[in-house]
Amino acid sequence: CGIVGYIGHRDAYPVIIKGLQRLEYRGYDSAGVAIYDGSTINLCKTKGKVEDLKNKAEAGMALGGNLGIGHTRWATHGVPNDVNSHPHYSNSGDLVIIHNGIIENYDSIKKELINRGYVFHSDTDTEVLVNLIEEVKKKENVKLGKAVQIALNQAVGAYAIAVFDRNKPDEIVVAKLGSPLAIGIGEDEFFIASDASPFIEFTNNAMYLEDEEMAIIRLGKEIKLRKIKDDSVV
Ligand code: GLU
Repeated sequence: CGIVGYIGHRDAYPVIIKGLQRLEYRGYDSAGVAIYDGSTINLCKTKGKVEDLKNKAEAGMALGGNLGIGHTRWATHGVPNDVNSHPHYSNSGDLVIIHNGIIENYDSIKKELINRGYVFHSDTDTEVLVNLIEEVKKKENVKLGKAVQIALNQAVGAYAIAVFDRNKPDEIVVAKLGSPLAIGIGEDEFFIASDASPFIEFTNNAMYLEDEEMAIIRLGKEIKLRKIKDDSVV
């Protein structure tokens, strides 16, 4: 399983697809990609190979956009199929997430969210996490980075995640515990991946998140690194 992300001045799609191919060695059963052009989020996902995803996306999806995330899934919660493949939307359609790992207490969180009116389309723990982030963001009236931090303090498990908000086309938030997450820093562009192989052709400047670290990656800004457990910041 693997994750890839891009934000910058290039077309994100080719970077993401090539990146997913470089991560294929990690093993997976499904793949997906979301590309944001600043007004529309285009999403394509499929059970099967990255090659299948590429064929499906290139046959029917608008591929333009400078922000993108891509995922290869190794199913833990929910069978491998198109719907359970990542990325996953939150209920409002504003947040989009990719996740490698497991949220162990997803069931109790899911029940609570259903009580609050949330609807689930997949069987994944990941869709629970993105809706928890959305609920925290609304309830606490906080920015995406803070909402991710608060949500992850309620989650038990392991993860490498990348999430963005339709209303913030210049920002991706990432976090890590257990699963690997590397960030490539270019000129006015950032890359995210499970290892550096998807972005070594673009930049030599890589950093690796530690466990329980998160980063708020915003175009034109320094990366903001935060400890997930440290509640005083973000
Ligand atoms: N637990 C998530 C799922 O089953 C992510 C699996 C993975 O690491 O790819 O969808």
